[in-house]
Amino acid sequence: MCGIVGYTGPREAYPIVLKGLKRLEYRGYDSSGVALLNHGLKVYKKKGKVAELEESLIGADVKANIGIGHTRWATHGEPSDRNAHPHESASGRLAMIHNGIIENYALIKKELENKGYSFKSDTDTEVLLNFIDDIQQHNDCSLEEAVRVALKRVVGAYCILLIDKEDPHTIIAARKGSPLVIGIGKGEHFLASDASPIIEYTKEVVYVNDYELAIVRPDELILKNLGNEKITPYVTKLDMELAAIEKGGYDHFMIKEIFEQPKTIYDCLRGRLDVAKGTITMAGVENYMEQLKNAHRIIIIACGTSWHAGLVAEYIIEELCRIPVEVEYASEFRYRNPVVNKGDVIIAISQSGETADTLVAIEKAKEQGAIIFGVVNAVGSSIARASHTGAYTHSGPEIGVASTKAFTGQLAVLTMIALKIAHNKGTISEERYLQLLQDLHDVPEKVDAILKNAEEVKAIADKYKDSTDALFLGRGYNFPVALEGALKLKEISYIHAEGYPAAEMKHGPIALVTETLPVIFVATKDSYHEKVVSNMQEIKARKGRVISIITEGDELSTSLSNDVFAVPPADEIVAPMLSVIPLQLLSYYVGIAKGYDVDKPRNLAKSVTVE
Ligand code: GLU
Repeated sequence: MCGIVGYTGPREAYPIVLKGLKRLEYRGYDSSGVALLNHGLKVYKKKGKVAELEESLIGADVKANIGIGHTRWATHGEPSDRNAHPHESASGRLAMIHNGIIENYALIKKELENKGYSFKSDTDTEVLLNFIDDIQQHNDCSLEEAVRVALKRVVGAYCILLIDKEDPHTIIAARKGSPLVIGIGKGEHFLASDASPIIEYTKEVVYVNDYELAIVRPDELILKNLGNEKITPYVTKLDMELAAIEKGGYDHFMIKEIFEQPKTIYDCLRGRLDVAKGTITMAGVENYMEQLKNAHRIIIIACGTSWHAGLVAEYIIEELCRIPVEVEYASEFRYRNPVVNKGDVIIAISQSGETADTLVAIEKAKEQGAIIFGVVNAVGSSIARASHTGAYTHSGPEIGVASTKAFTGQLAVLTMIALKIAHNKGTISEERYLQLLQDLHDVPEKVDAILKNAEEVKAIADKYKDSTDALFLGRGYNFPVALEGALKLKEISYIHAEGYPAAEMKHGPIALVTETLPVIFVATKDSYHEKVVSNMQEIKARKGRVISIITEGDELSTSLSNDVFAVPPADEIVAPMLSVIPLQLLSYYVGIAKGYDVDKPRNLAKSVTVE
């Protein structure tokens, strides 16, 4: 949450920072702002999206070779011009942007107020900034030293970028818990929350680690720890293309990403799955096979959509590998006192690899002797680095705030992990193993076939767009898909939706069924199918409006439903990768029909780097 960008070098900083902010807007869009240094400090900021800031700056003096910019997801203080970043220190010398939360800001604020400071905003950021400025003034030290001293007192998470009027070529940056990437150009440097603002200028990047501080000048990058010791920057090469982070002719990132899924799932399987040889190649699993197959327990830790992928994985791993699995919300796991035994395996699932709660949860489990297996999309991200081993989903950058292609990528990776362990452990028959390899291999083609009928989902969306509530039901492997369908509808279309196990709805939600309530059944043919059909009858008998996601040719479900959408037949283990597609489309088309900004849904942001 919150996107930050910085530039120092020979080029004009403003266009680079502005373009970077647009790329990072998925991280927050409550307000945005820039600070530029050119014979003095200029700070421009505005409530609302980056386009509003851009508009307000037409004709403004934005000439500068050094600049920082921020797009905010508010945590402390309402979204407003006043609370927008960058903040300026009371002395007028420093400007700072921040991603994260300073938990002990109230105490530091009190101390500063006692010294006579007053604050223009309600943010924790302005407190930290003035704290740094105060330390520097009173100790007559360098800004870098003041930052170090201040950060030792700080409790919480941060990525900060600071510029100083007196030092017009330098950006000081530091991180703990919030991401920071530095791009290395020729005589110039780029800083950002992720690589998307950097990619068009350079592919050489350094991922800054927690408790590191960077002093960044056009021709120099110095990395230090908080003990003032120099660290050699570890330069890596980005393997991302610019086209992957642009809309490529689609109206929104969300629909682009939904339609990318045949390719992203294929990319995820490519080089790993070999149906002819009957093999799955995954070094992250192979290197830890003994620990994985002998684990007494696997705990899956995730948030949001990734948590739903975790639920599907629970069913698959228990069925195929016969290892007990628990699925935990990272935010709960990290604060309760869970039993983690040495040798337990934690699978941490996160699209961004920066999800704050998941990151802390795995650190905690690591201390207790667990093996951490990361399933992440963003290469080089914090969770990827904090894990002992893992597998990337290779879904490419996901910009739409509502996760779509990352979910199917997670399912593909988790299915392969389960199959590989089960095969090695001997808990799956050769026949079923080979059959599932083939089924997995066929998923991209089937997703493609589903997407060809997207217009049918649009028609259903138009019909039900004015509903105020919706119920999503499924059993077995399709139960987490029902949860995911409800989540998508909530976040994109602002329709109150609940996902439930189809049988469980009799214990409460059935009371909500009326002639106007759409009840969406995820009812593809699997071992629970007849039971789901009975549940459909129960809703029908109460005059509910039944919309069903069915397997092609299912006449009985069709006759019980007001509307149906058919997907190709598939084994129940891979079926969620198919049945979720129409639900993603449904939320997209309802959101569009209602005129909402589906890429930037209200109050949400992607990459939840605050807890
Ligand atoms: N805490 C800061 C604010 O409220 C930054 C928020 C964030 O990174 O999400 O402005």
